[in-house]
Amino acid sequence: MIKKINTKFIKLIKYYNLINHNLIYENEAINRYKINSNLAVRGSKAKDLRELKQLIANIKNCELKKNSKNIVFSDGNPKAKIMIVGEGPGANEDLEGVPFIGRTGDLLDKMLSSIGLDRDSVYITNVVNYRPPENRNPTDEEIARYLPYLVTHIETIDPKIIILLGSSALKAITGNDQAISDVRGKWINIKIGKCNTSVIASFHPAFLMRQPDQKKLSWIDLKMIKKKILDLKINVEK
Ligand code: URA
Repeated sequence: MIKKINTKFIKLIKYYNLINHNLIYENEAINRYKINSNLAVRGSKAKDLRELKQLIANIKNCELKKNSKNIVFSDGNPKAKIMIVGEGPGANEDLEGVPFIGRTGDLLDKMLSSIGLDRDSVYITNVVNYRPPENRNPTDEEIARYLPYLVTHIETIDPKIIILLGSSALKAITGNDQAISDVRGKWINIKIGKCNTSVIASFHPAFLMRQPDQKKLSWIDLKMIKKKILDLKINVEK
């Protein structure tokens, strides 16, 4: 009997090591506000980003904007070759004007850290830059309205890898409205505006908080991203 329990236990430990759960589940807070002066971009990229932010801030007759406190433009390193596209700001992001903060942001940071990344090695934005009320998904019209800005954003950053988190990002960038569970774990090479890039869709951290059993699939995607970074020889050193 004891032998049977031990074997089961050992198998479980092997499985947990395999999927490296502890890295995604560990519970320490992450300091997102440390300043790294290496990240500042100068010249035309900085100007293009400033102008893009201003263009979005000038949007007229938008219900999202009317009901929001702040524009949520981006976070991370504008020089990064890895870009993350989320869905849209939530209440915390709306208050602070920064994407992915609060519990969802903490989980995203832990996911990044599990493959050796952090906010200095990626660039983060969303499909829509103003908070959808009641944390609803952006509508198709809202996605379409913000898409030209997102495409310009991608062209400006010119990432080699784009990680689409959740179905709104998938729909905006690929036009595909399948469930993430049906399309995750695959790379596609696409041209977005002038940018040729490798794209992968994966679960949104907010979804993973509701469905933690899906973290094992998310971890497979993270390992694929790590491998792609190595294959493409992307320098993630700061
Ligand atoms: N969820 C998103 O998709 N983006 C954010 O910025 C915050 C939560």
